[in-house]
Amino acid sequence: MAKKEKNIYFGTDKLNRASHLRERTAQLEEMKQSHDAKYIPVYNGRHIYMNQHSSFYRRSNPFDCEDQCFLGLIGDQMWYSCPLNDEQAADLEKEVGKRFASLRRYALKLDDELAHIALYSRGLDLWQRNRKFCPKCGTANTLEMAGHKLVCQNNHEQFPHIEPAIIVMVTYEDKCLLGRKAEWPTYAYSTLAGFVEPGETIEEAVKREVEEESNIRVNNIKYFGSQPWPFPASLMLAFTAEAENEDIKVDDELEDVQWFTRLQLQEMMKDGYITIAPRYTVAHNLIVGWLEDKDA
Ligand SMILES: [Zn+2]
Repeated sequence: MAKKEKNIYFGTDKLNRASHLRERTAQLEEMKQSHDAKYIPVYNGRHIYMNQHSSFYRRSNPFDCEDQCFLGLIGDQMWYSCPLNDEQAADLEKEVGKRFASLRRYALKLDDELAHIALYSRGLDLWQRNRKFCPKCGTANTLEMAGHKLVCQNNHEQFPHIEPAIIVMVTYEDKCLLGRKAEWPTYAYSTLAGFVEPGETIEEAVKREVEEESNIRVNNIKYFGSQPWPFPASLMLAFTAEAENEDIKVDDELEDVQWFTRLQLQEMMKDGYITIAPRYTVAHNLIVGWLEDKDA
């Protein structure tokens, strides 16, 4: 399925993370002589979006931040994110005349590389901010490896934390299964999703989540693709699956779950009775991919 809509947003093959350079501080500094360095200020995972350039704010001279985090190389550009504290962020907002804003608001205006850089720096920043102290001994953490490792005063190490979640397009004959949470915007529907639990395979998580949320049992689970989702720390693992039964029972987590035929879904989307997940989400890829895949 989904031949046309497989370009999952936020991915790029242009960035070389060059992780071997993270501990080579002197080499990184030397490289700045021959490379074009780009510094992005980041505050609570947010960036300053600049309308006129269709880009987030960045500059070629470093910010006065405590740690410069090396993100990698795009051609001969060295990309760094600079986590700002409250005061630095407020000063920069005043200087630029714009506020730090969530990536959700301008994701679709960025080209692939910039969207990837924004998402990557967001994930790294949120991890660093949420781990100021060591979870083992409570002493303060400091950043090492150009922003990619935290070490406490007792030398306990931590690396970026990612929470795997599954998201699945369940189909039954010519119908797909979509649901909505009460807190979502009116008319918004999406594919079912949930976190993978300790000790569980991702396939087991797909079966469990779908059955818990809808009473539908699934088989023929196929991997579709993945999307980093640092809102705040997920990695979305997308699947397709086939339903064994049709009788939906909704649990407390969702407000509604329904079967939609392609025709129903297309007409309801056209008439504004349903909005599906935004174009930058893998849920969108799953739904549009299924709509376009008439042979399935
Ligand atoms: Zn510790």
